[in-house]
Amino acid sequence: MDMLIGGKHISSEDLAGVINPYDGETIDTVPIAHRQTADLAIFEANNAKHSLQEMSAFKVSNKLFEVCDKLKENRKDFAHLLTMEVGKPIRESLVELDRSIETLKLAAEEAKRIYGESVPLDAGLNGKGFFAFTQKVPLGVVAAITPFNYPLNLTIHKIAPAIACKNTVIVKPPTEAPLTVMKFCELLDDEFPDGVVNTITGYGSEVGDYLVTSQDVNKISFTGSVTTGLMISQKAGMKKVTLELGGNDPMVVLKDADIDKAVTGVINGAFLNAGQVCMGVKRIIVEEDIADEFSQRLVDKTKKLVMGNPLNSETTLGTLINEKAAMQVEQTVNNAVNAGAKILAGGIRDGAFYEATVIDNVKADMDLVVNETFGPVAPIIRVDSVDEAIEVANDTEYGLQAGVFTNDYANAMRCANEIEAGTVFVNKQSTFRTDNMPFGGFKNSGVGKEGIKYAVDEMTKTKLIGLNLR
Ligand code: NAP
Repeated sequence: MDMLIGGKHISSEDLAGVINPYDGETIDTVPIAHRQTADLAIFEANNAKHSLQEMSAFKVSNKLFEVCDKLKENRKDFAHLLTMEVGKPIRESLVELDRSIETLKLAAEEAKRIYGESVPLDAGLNGKGFFAFTQKVPLGVVAAITPFNYPLNLTIHKIAPAIACKNTVIVKPPTEAPLTVMKFCELLDDEFPDGVVNTITGYGSEVGDYLVTSQDVNKISFTGSVTTGLMISQKAGMKKVTLELGGNDPMVVLKDADIDKAVTGVINGAFLNAGQVCMGVKRIIVEEDIADEFSQRLVDKTKKLVMGNPLNSETTLGTLINEKAAMQVEQTVNNAVNAGAKILAGGIRDGAFYEATVIDNVKADMDLVVNETFGPVAPIIRVDSVDEAIEVANDTEYGLQAGVFTNDYANAMRCANEIEAGTVFVNKQSTFRTDNMPFGGFKNSGVGKEGIKYAVDEMTKTKLIGLNLR
């Protein structure tokens, strides 16, 4: 598939294969672009600013609704392609498509609600006789750099609000899974003037870095790892930056919790998308009194997951993004076992597949839970009290989301107040998000918020216009 720059299909001499992690077959190729092509994309995006900003909010909104309808019509084809390039079960790809449609719809609605406020200057010294109001003004060109795990919806979380508030966009999709995003950008390009949306493929370390350091890009909206995010924050200079980074989300299960509800939370939270979820349940902190019962019920339910061909509608556990990623998870689990942890279910790798794995007796200082393990692993850390649970939950550089399971409202509120995370859910796992909520982590999990309305705030600047009426 070619890149789309200034409304034209552009290729390159160098190509990268996009590999289906299930069967190792090459699905397609994409260009490996270099700096010159990134420059062209920056030029075209700047060139298109005027034609987008000339459009009324009414028209922008309608166009986004039209793209939304087209995505809906092609939902199954997009989901198929997504499963082919990422290896996630088709049922999960269909959910990603539904969420993508919803995200677009929210942006189409929000396009009509972008306005400032009147400001009472006469409340300030010497302000009598002045009338002032603010406007939310687009930043210009937004570069959207996105990861492989939810390539479509996470990219739409950037492109759609950017266009809703009249910024042009350059999308740099992940090299491992760029196709669904590129196909989606073609739908957008059909509706908007050339250059409003541009795609550039190639290595993040080259073209991504070029976008980050360019003076002619006004905002970087990045989702990906902490390592890349930190690098971007150091190089971006004066431009605005939103960083949606990794997570190591805790699930605290207190002794009075509804155990079945918590177990379901782990199944949906630790094994979704083969555990490759930023807000996945990555540390299960369970009070000792119920830990045996909890782990037994978790093992029983884990064994019911169906690992296999991701295109099969029965499959609930697909592959990881590639074999190397699966080997890394295998190694991390094995290291924990060598240090005293105990596998209760799973633990076997087959190519890019890694079984849904429940591992007990995990200590808070093991690599498995100190770092973000991006795979289908449910590590159980046993604790003796609510105090210890909160201490363990906070003993991490991350702070994306968290879940606490308890029927004691005092303990629920205590955990919600004291756990350092962008979101804390009570009686729901961290792996839950609606596309309108403010989403973004504390600590090293990121800077800024997404969720359409909140993304629009981060993609506009506030201008004050004051009138002297004296
Ligand atoms: P990644 O390696 O950081 O890559 C993300 C994107 O950044 C890719 O498009 C990559 O391009 C590009 N990139 C790499 N180096 C770059 C550089 N020096 N400058 C600019 N761009 C660069 O992350 P990943 O492995 O794809 O994704 C997994 C991580 O994302 C996990 O840590 C996960 O928790 C996090 N994540 C966070 C959220 C959230 O909302 N908080 C959501 C999903 C995932 P290439 O593909 O060409 O290398």
